[in-house]
Amino acid sequence: MKKQLVSIALTGTILAGGSFADMAFVQAAGNGPDYQGHETINTSILHTYSEMVDYLEKQEKKQTYMELEVIGKTVKGRDMHLVKYMQNPKNPTILYITQQHGDEALTTEGALDFIKQLGTGKTKGILENVNILFIPMYNADGAMGDVNYELEDYAASGDRHLTRLNANGADLNRDHEEKTQPETQALHNNVLQKYDIDYMIDLHHQGAQWVKDGKYVSGAIFPSHPDHTAPEVLQGSKQLGAVVYDAIEPKGWGHLANYAGKGSAYDNGISVYGLAHDYGISTLLFEMRGTADNANDFEVLGQKSNGYLKKQAVIAMDSAARAVADGTINEKDISFWDDLPVQEERPY
Ligand SMILES: [Zn+2]
Repeated sequence: MKKQLVSIALTGTILAGGSFADMAFVQAAGNGPDYQGHETINTSILHTYSEMVDYLEKQEKKQTYMELEVIGKTVKGRDMHLVKYMQNPKNPTILYITQQHGDEALTTEGALDFIKQLGTGKTKGILENVNILFIPMYNADGAMGDVNYELEDYAASGDRHLTRLNANGADLNRDHEEKTQPETQALHNNVLQKYDIDYMIDLHHQGAQWVKDGKYVSGAIFPSHPDHTAPEVLQGSKQLGAVVYDAIEPKGWGHLANYAGKGSAYDNGISVYGLAHDYGISTLLFEMRGTADNANDFEVLGQKSNGYLKKQAVIAMDSAARAVADGTINEKDISFWDDLPVQEERPY
């Protein structure tokens, strides 16, 4: 009851141009402010491609165990980077992919934060027991809005638009079977076939309109497909989901649902399915709430939610790496999946 009163009061404050502290409270409730054409979304607060490369090169110089490798080029000729921490090839290996869809940017922002953390005492001991690979900003052309088609009526302001598809207009997360795009070929030829990868989290954003138990979700998770995945791989996939769920759900803003729904028809071109099937990788799809730019207002989320969403991405990556490193992932109970509600759509 008290909570309801507070939120009504806050709505009034927001309309009157509320303070930052009020906004922080709204986020903490997991109901971050929406956009709907009346909130600021400025893409210039996100790393550009070249800012990201500068950042990674600086981190590589600072960090003993970090290696930066170019695995290929995007359609527009941007180098695709693999960030590698591989102290012992015999250790289990986890891969994080961010921004296969170019407008799903806070996944990359979170990865950059986590990469920085890996160079500090905060993650001491982890890298001795797990190998970590990142492909940040996988769809760099889409992320920079540098594409061979028009981007009309996009919501964000700033120096560029961000868009889902690659420069050719291909959905990279439907291309893992056919592998028609240079980005896909780089990933498969120079990463998936080259390294023995055990786990993978594919980090995305979904629309802002999804709810669980009547409350907007902070994100949604999804394991590999039960009918197209080896049982032990599926088990690992669900355990990876359990690790992430247990790390995020207790946070004040954490509210995760099962992603199942429109995306649950089997398609080997989707990484969460195809990589599990073709390479025996225990995969997890993780969808954060709201995209950074879109032509549909209901897809995007005001940038005031960036803080907790970025943190959510960091916690997902950090908790997974730790659980793989210390082996606790193998003890994770997967029964929560049976009770995890499937998210429902509530357009606003
Ligand atoms: Zn996506």
